[in-house]
Amino acid sequence: MNASNPATDTATVNPDGKLCLACLGDYGPSKLPGLKQCVRCGFITADMSISEEELAALYGEDYFHGEEYRNYVSEEASLKDNFRRRIVTLQQLIPDLKQRELFEVGCAYGFFLDEVKNDVASARGIDISRDAIAHAREHKGVNAIAGNYAEYPIERPVGMLAMWDTIEHLPRPDVFIEKAAHDVAPGGFIAVTTGDIDSFNARMRGKHWRMIHPPTHMHYFSVATLSKLLERNGFEVVHVSHPGNARNLRSILHFILDLRLGWGGLYRAIADWKIFDLSISMNLFDIMFVVARRKA
Ligand SMILES: [Zn+2]
Repeated sequence: MNASNPATDTATVNPDGKLCLACLGDYGPSKLPGLKQCVRCGFITADMSISEEELAALYGEDYFHGEEYRNYVSEEASLKDNFRRRIVTLQQLIPDLKQRELFEVGCAYGFFLDEVKNDVASARGIDISRDAIAHAREHKGVNAIAGNYAEYPIERPVGMLAMWDTIEHLPRPDVFIEKAAHDVAPGGFIAVTTGDIDSFNARMRGKHWRMIHPPTHMHYFSVATLSKLLERNGFEVVHVSHPGNARNLRSILHFILDLRLGWGGLYRAIADWKIFDLSISMNLFDIMFVVARRKA
């Protein structure tokens, strides 16, 4: 057994993910159907397992074009606005950000890497979607590779690691965070965004909360359970906020008409109207932005 392999290390603690990913407690039933909940820390997760082939198939071209986003690429402007605001927060927290090498896990089409490249010493990333990475390299010219972060060796620790809206998609977020603890230098930072199931909106919506949709979203963290996972791996949480997001009107229309109401025909009939190019800012305060520092 190779002790430096993070997947192997985790396997000794939590061999097949049967224990709570956040605190290693036991799972019991959740009041939300189809989900299970840690009896100790309250972490909520989907009751399922998925193979790597199934996962790669899930994030083929169809995923970014219609399954969740009508056309992820047409969202570029609003996504970049959101990334710019996160970068400003990071600059406030980390005055020497510009001297740090950044690695992004789940970099998709490379919009964040492209947006952040002049604010850090270097920026590169990885994503499981080959289609997205091909786009990132070809159209953005960013340093991005297709693959599974859990199996990707980083030659030297970085000063900053980002995971935007990614952790909820991973079969084993604990394996990724444990690897991140190896890949982030002491004093370095990890920044994560994901849904907050303890938020007012998530509590109000219950099983209808828009973030609950296995198998693409498998894990439902709260500030407390995400902090537990990070702290268990040698990180100290230094920032928590619930920032709003700019969304393209077309993507909101798609979500409501096509995904929620099942009126795909109506959606397709009007989706090309120019008016839907506009972006609006909205904040349901149910997406958390957590930054943690790797302890020395
Ligand atoms: Zn737990």
